Amino acid sequence: MDNVDDLLRQVFQLAEFRPHQREIIQDVLNGHDVVCVMPTGAGKSLCFQLPALALKGLTVVVSPLISLMADQVRHLQTLGVPVLLLNSSLPSSEQSQVLKRLNDGFAGLLYLAPERFSAPSFHRLLPQLRPNLLVVDEAHCLSFWGHDFRPEYMRLAEVREQLGSPVTMALTATATPNVRDDIIKMLKLRTPKVHVTGFDRPNLTYACRRIDTQSQKDEALLHGLSKQPGSGIIYCSTRRLVEQLAALFQQRCPKRTVRAYHAGMDAQARKKSQEDFMANPDAVVVATNAFGMGINKADIRFVVHYNITASLEAYYQEAGRAGRDGLPAQCVLYCSPSDRYTQEFFIDKIGENNTVLSPSQIETLQTHARQKLDQVFNFAYRSRCRRRAILDYFGDRTAITRCTCDVCRGDVRSRPAARSPSGNTPRGVAKPKRASPIDDNLDQPAELRFERLKQVRRDLAAEKKWPAFCIAHDSVLREVARVAPRSLDALAEIKGIGADKLQKFGAAFLQAMKGSP
Ligand code: ADP
Ligand code: MG
Ligand code: ZN
Repeated sequence: MDNVDDLLRQVFQLAEFRPHQREIIQDVLNGHDVVCVMPTGAGKSLCFQLPALALKGLTVVVSPLISLMADQVRHLQTLGVPVLLLNSSLPSSEQSQVLKRLNDGFAGLLYLAPERFSAPSFHRLLPQLRPNLLVVDEAHCLSFWGHDFRPEYMRLAEVREQLGSPVTMALTATATPNVRDDIIKMLKLRTPKVHVTGFDRPNLTYACRRIDTQSQKDEALLHGLSKQPGSGIIYCSTRRLVEQLAALFQQRCPKRTVRAYHAGMDAQARKKSQEDFMANPDAVVVATNAFGMGINKADIRFVVHYNITASLEAYYQEAGRAGRDGLPAQCVLYCSPSDRYTQEFFIDKIGENNTVLSPSQIETLQTHARQKLDQVFNFAYRSRCRRRAILDYFGDRTAITRCTCDVCRGDVRSRPAARSPSGNTPRGVAKPKRASPIDDNLDQPAELRFERLKQVRRDLAAEKKWPAFCIAHDSVLREVARVAPRSLDALAEIKGIGADKLQKFGAAFLQAMKGSP
């Protein structure tokens, strides 16, 4: 078997593993089934692509999103990795070519869309394939608890058996403990190694505000926008709201680039909105949740939710588009009791036009959707640290310090109890006001050191192609700037500088203490 470090550098052309990738890869190579829950962008693909090569032979990758699958396939092709793709977008002549190569004992990655499972030609082939590894990407689609259940995924257990029950990896960005248990049960994984990590985003300041009427929301938002520089996204729950709000802001904030985005606009208008948003450093886009997939803007300074989302998964995903550069960013959730009606309207439509699910399955999906809605209302109305609440929701046990959320800052005033069928809505309790680390004051020399450290971090991030927050959080750099260590030993004393960071970045950080650029 090839060495994983050699494969990383020589085949994938990456300098080093990101946090947790090595451990996950090692588990697969040791023959364990693995469940990997890490947020979007964390680098889950490498966790199966690299073992696929190390194990030689065939790896079958099931993924529901044809466009994302095509991106991965193209990327692997440019790296010279043997890869095949089988989905319904291929002409049938190409499909039969792929089947022929599989029959001939193809070694490499086979990307499959799950709808192939019902094609008889493919079914006949399954028992002959004998892959070393089966990968289920976007594995939350398996679960009735997931926010994106896909009936085709229900066949996966059977497919896995027909493939000879190979070592199996299930990956997802959004699995709550319920979804995780479902995945394990449905795929019949054997005492899998479970990795849940990476959900903490310390540079995001989360805040929730209950605002009862639309006009109050508008005023709050207009006021907030006038004080908030940088680019941002305002998510709304309906297309109609998107259009109304975009028009209002265009009128009231004429100096700012404000664009609308929703799936009801024609493709050209959507493209234009997106391009304008990408091109302007202070642009604001008012959008439905159709906006965001594949948006790669690192310097989004704020994400405001004008309405509550359907689930905390959705909230985390959308809010998480802020602050990809590791610098402070604001995530504010407005919610009103009437937001519930919009969401209930969507819940009632679950299963509409569906031909696969039974009435009781639809009912289960609807019940779960209502519980998820309750959970996100609870998140918004409770006065519990937002960051901790999010980590707990996903089952990420990472410890956190120096949180800047509205609750930890003491900004949360007593609120009326939320109206929820479960009735489980403790009242907010005001806490003593504490300064947020964001406005922690450093003296002037320390402020300069901090600026230099951030430059060092930017350079390292560019060089390693890491998100800046993976190198060091602001709070850590601030502490380094305050202490101004002169040696690696002194640097090692600072909280947040582990052995790994010390070795990788210690020298560069110390250099920044000396004042050279
Ligand atoms: P996920 O599936 O977790 O959302 P991806 O696997 O698509 O994330 O990876 C996100 C990006 O991170 C990709 O551009 C990928 O090439 C990059 N990436 C992954 N691992 C590393 C690494 N060790 N070093 C640098 N870049 C990486
Ligand atoms: Mg992925
Ligand atoms: Zn907090």
